Amino acid sequence: MTKPGYFGRFGGFFVPEVLVSSLKQLEREYATVAGDEGFWTELNKLLGAYAGRPTPLYPAKRLTESIGGASIYLKREDLAHTGSHKINNALGQALLAKRMGRSRIICETGAGQHGVATATACALLGMECEVYMGEVDVERQKLNCFRMDLLGAKVNVVKSGSRTLKDSINEAMRDYAASSNHTHYLIGSVVGPHPYPTIVRDLQSVIGREAREQITAETGRLPEALVACVGGGSNSIGLFYPFVDDEDVKMYGAEAAGEGVDTGKHSASVVAGKEGVLHGARTLILQEEDGQVSETSSVAAGLDYPAVGPEHAFLSVSSRAKYFAVTDAEALSGFHLLSENEGIIPALESAHAIHLATKVAADMPRDQSVIVCLSGRGDKDVAQVAELEGRL
Ligand SMILES: *Cc1c(COP(=O)(O)O)cnc(C)c1O
Repeated sequence: MTKPGYFGRFGGFFVPEVLVSSLKQLEREYATVAGDEGFWTELNKLLGAYAGRPTPLYPAKRLTESIGGASIYLKREDLAHTGSHKINNALGQALLAKRMGRSRIICETGAGQHGVATATACALLGMECEVYMGEVDVERQKLNCFRMDLLGAKVNVVKSGSRTLKDSINEAMRDYAASSNHTHYLIGSVVGPHPYPTIVRDLQSVIGREAREQITAETGRLPEALVACVGGGSNSIGLFYPFVDDEDVKMYGAEAAGEGVDTGKHSASVVAGKEGVLHGARTLILQEEDGQVSETSSVAAGLDYPAVGPEHAFLSVSSRAKYFAVTDAEALSGFHLLSENEGIIPALESAHAIHLATKVAADMPRDQSVIVCLSGRGDKDVAQVAELEGRL
């Protein structure tokens, strides 16, 4: 890292002045809490007794046989409480907020998965929770709104801009600027201004630390490759980070190619983005010629974001990790492949990683291994798939 909050030339702290003191304070307080062993002990207790960690590392034998290459192992984040890796970050930041003396939590959500995880953590820890969600997303995800309501959270409907995730982040930042003395903004991925990309990466790294121990116990050595889907980039950086210094371990990120990278209807910000500043960080962003942020598209709501966490931008330009765009159609084939061969219905986001992993594994010898982050379960997506395929 060049200077704090930077990953090479990416990252940083490009925010309006009203946010500077809040974020500086968060940086200081996080440094204090992160240095306190008691915090990590308490968090690990919650991750174990409440969220179901460690999640299994499962050898997907039938999937491996159907591909005929390297052995594929699934890191089962789909088995974590609330059905995805998002709970790791939500619990960690909620506990951090509590230690910092905050009683109120705000967050943004797109499809509602991060909103549900945050509302869950707040119910567990007895904290007030408000979620910002775009009007368009509220319409698309009524059930998740009801879930947040059940969990005691208040959903604020965002009616500005494109009324989706990007605008919800803007509204949450606005709230935070005015309320940070009693409120913590619990951001959902490794995006936004410093210190968020570092905090969220630290909290999601439990995925890679566990996977490293588990694969070593199983095969006696490290894997040859890691694969994960990349929206903002939190489940992928969580898997990758503990292996970054192991140069023989290759890393592959699966972005959403939507209807195809050439069609303009996609969310592949590493593969097709340009450098710029969005939500307080210098990173790779999908943008028009005049610099306006592009509209994005993906069958997987969790990948539908026009930028990527700055650390991924750095891993890409430094060639430490490689990123590929997987289309909606390819993700759907990964969705069916895993369901039929292993009895595991993956989230549509994770199905992007499954598809890429089959390509990667097919080109590798049988005595090597690949770990795929199965970031979430597909229950939330079955109705959408049925409709897409005209099966309802
Ligand atoms: C939100 C989500 C993602 C994408 O977010 P990242 O920050 O890129 O991990 C991927 N998979 C699932 C299941 C999600 O809910």
